[in-house]
Amino acid sequence: LAIRDLSALRHHEQDHRDFAAAVQELNLLVTEAEGDVRGYHITTDEQFREDYLRSKQRADDALAVLGEHPTGGSDDSVSELVRLTHRRFELLDEALDLRDEQGMDAVAEFIRGEPSTLTNQVRILADAVIEESAARADTEARSADRRAAFAGGAVLAASVAAFGLLLWIALLNRRRARQARDAEAALRHRFGAFAQAMPSASFSVFADYTIVDWNAAATNAFGVDPAAAIGADLRYLIPGDPGVRIVAALDEARSTGAAVDLELVVRPEGGPQVDLEGVAFPILGAEGPMMGAVLRDLTALHEVQRAEEATRGIMRLVVETSVEAIITVNRRGRILLFNPAAERYLRIPATEAVGRDLLEFIAGGDRAAVREALAGVRRGGTASSEAPQLRIRARAFDGSEFPAEANVASLGDAGEATAAVTLRDLSDQERWERSLTEARLQAEAANLAKSQFLSRMSHELRTPMNVILGYSQLLELDEQATQEQKDSVGHIHKAGRHLLALIDEVLDLSRVEGGELSLSLEPVLLAELANESVAMIRPLAAANQVRFETDSDSCQYMVMADKQRIKQVLINLLSNAIKYNVPQGSVDLSCTHAGDGTVRLLVRDTGPGLSEAQQARIFQPFERLGAEFSPVPGTGLGLALCKRLVEAMSGRIGVTSEVGRGSTFWVDLPEAEDTFEPGPQSAPRAVLSPLSRGSIANVLYIEDNLSNFRVIEEVARRIGNIRLIPAMQGGLGLDLARESQPDLVLLDLDLPDMPGTEVLQALRGDPRTGSVPVVVITADASARQEERLLDAGAAAYLTKPVDLSALRATFARFLEEPA
Ligand code: ADP
Repeated sequence: LAIRDLSALRHHEQDHRDFAAAVQELNLLVTEAEGDVRGYHITTDEQFREDYLRSKQRADDALAVLGEHPTGGSDDSVSELVRLTHRRFELLDEALDLRDEQGMDAVAEFIRGEPSTLTNQVRILADAVIEESAARADTEARSADRRAAFAGGAVLAASVAAFGLLLWIALLNRRRARQARDAEAALRHRFGAFAQAMPSASFSVFADYTIVDWNAAATNAFGVDPAAAIGADLRYLIPGDPGVRIVAALDEARSTGAAVDLELVVRPEGGPQVDLEGVAFPILGAEGPMMGAVLRDLTALHEVQRAEEATRGIMRLVVETSVEAIITVNRRGRILLFNPAAERYLRIPATEAVGRDLLEFIAGGDRAAVREALAGVRRGGTASSEAPQLRIRARAFDGSEFPAEANVASLGDAGEATAAVTLRDLSDQERWERSLTEARLQAEAANLAKSQFLSRMSHELRTPMNVILGYSQLLELDEQATQEQKDSVGHIHKAGRHLLALIDEVLDLSRVEGGELSLSLEPVLLAELANESVAMIRPLAAANQVRFETDSDSCQYMVMADKQRIKQVLINLLSNAIKYNVPQGSVDLSCTHAGDGTVRLLVRDTGPGLSEAQQARIFQPFERLGAEFSPVPGTGLGLALCKRLVEAMSGRIGVTSEVGRGSTFWVDLPEAEDTFEPGPQSAPRAVLSPLSRGSIANVLYIEDNLSNFRVIEEVARRIGNIRLIPAMQGGLGLDLARESQPDLVLLDLDLPDMPGTEVLQALRGDPRTGSVPVVVITADASARQEERLLDAGAAAYLTKPVDLSALRATFARFLEEPA
């Protein structure tokens, strides 16, 4: 357009016109050539190089014409213009090659240097040349158009320069545009990756709801994959209410130009419900998608919230229905929460209790402890598992007090409440504990009474036994008795001894219970023990129609035991095995060597057997396991005593049993280390041979029981040379002793007027009787008692029922003259 304008300029002076046109033409050609070079720079298209060479050729022609022009500007300026133009072409040639050799950056650098200065110089010079020419033409033609021509020239030059510049900029812009396009592509790429990786569902749509983007989370949330979604119409893709709401939100976002909150519940086909929450937003100033949405999947969160809500509900219910008072307090101990149980116990409605000091509800004496516990919780934040537990007295609002267990637990720093205090009413428990203690005391008292009763009973029983055993022994010695009579008396004697043993057992248990039991451990041959025990128990077996089998050969072991006590144990086990058996059943006694230094005695029966539960209880005192309702006599003490005795001998006792098949009771005892020669099987019969002395001995017998007196009297008579003086009371005995100065005093301890021990003391203390030996005869067989009496001055100690040989030996000791 500029060129055309240029050519349309009217010049008065044809020469000048031609000259100016030539200058313009030249400039145009140079500019064209420069454009070609730039084109080549940017595209390296060979076509540009060819165009350049052609422009250059034409410029050369134009330069030649300019040099010859007759009416041009001054020679100097024209030739300078020619020179500069040549230089420009040189530089353009150089720039062209530079692109090939060193690339675009080097070219840009190069062009900013000399070529741009040169372009300015050419422009200024061209202006000057044209002005010169115009001045000349003006002078010559003085045309009104001269100024216009000049101006036109200037415009022309400026236009030409601007055009070059524009072209340059356009080409640079093309490069920048490509860079921008690349950057945009990278951005899109990056954004796409973000969108795909985003845990929230996101999508965007054109204004007509055609879906453009659809990320992986959207695929999950709506159950529609990108292949189906992208390009589809959103309005038809998501059915029902969720679809309607999304579209409404997108519409609103577009029309208001602002983000719109969106909450949805969708149920993708075949899947569980999904809760979504997010925003729909407009995409402003874009040519592509117009609206988008981002929706977070809150299903899991909502589930957690629902669970929490449920838990809170349960907690509330627990607190409301708890039988324990639950109270929470703030840092200062002021009540914040007060549950219904607290209202009941402390007799104040929650509305009135809240805000009060917790300590108002604690009895005076316990406040310090509760205050301390609260302070401890504040300091240490005690975990509820190790919360301090206090037994306190709580104080209801009406002033009444009750015992309670208080737990003080920290609630942490979560809220205003810092501690939870629970109170459990212990009134019932305390009542129950009290009644329990009372019951225990009663039971203990009853037990004590029973022990005393048993002790007393056995003592009372021993006295008649004295007579039975005494006379039976005497009858056995009777020369006139027939063999048959002697045998019968022998049975009476044996049974009497057994009865005595049983009495001793009762006494023993009361002693064991009282913790006073003395044992004398010695090596005992089990075979002998077994034979003796079986001999004693055989009649019982016969009476019960139970067969007895003893494997005494297996019992050739020595154990450390108290012979009497272990015999007692064995007899007890054997008699149980017979008593709790079946008719025609059998009992088996044997021994085994355990190999670890213990020997085991086994008593096996074919009785009803014992369940596990029964086995667990069988060694408890007074436990009869239902036998109390059967005709089988018993006390339930036997096994309890056996266990204590065996354990006192460092042994063990136990049972294995099978219901319906019988039981096996076993006793383990430590094996004796040294061998032991068994003594004679039974003591020799008492021989009441006369005492060797010339005179009759006076023996004072202080005894209130006539039967006992008779037995001793008979023994004395048979021995001969003894006069027995009876004294039925202690006081009388003392008088008689002082008067008659007896050779020996026999003293019973259980006297009606005074204790025998006092009589002994008086005898020893009186110079008239101090030298008379005193032999104590008592039913109290304990070793401790014997020791005490010997210390008190008794010369000897005999137990009832009196063994006749022992009595004979005692008489001999104190009454016989030394040989
Ligand atoms: P007692 O025989 O006086 O009842 P024990 O202490 O000896 O007392 O025994 C306790 C209870 O154990 C018996 O009442 C009986 O029920 C049960 N018992 C003992 N020995 C046997 C046994 N060999 N077989 C079955 N039950 C037995």
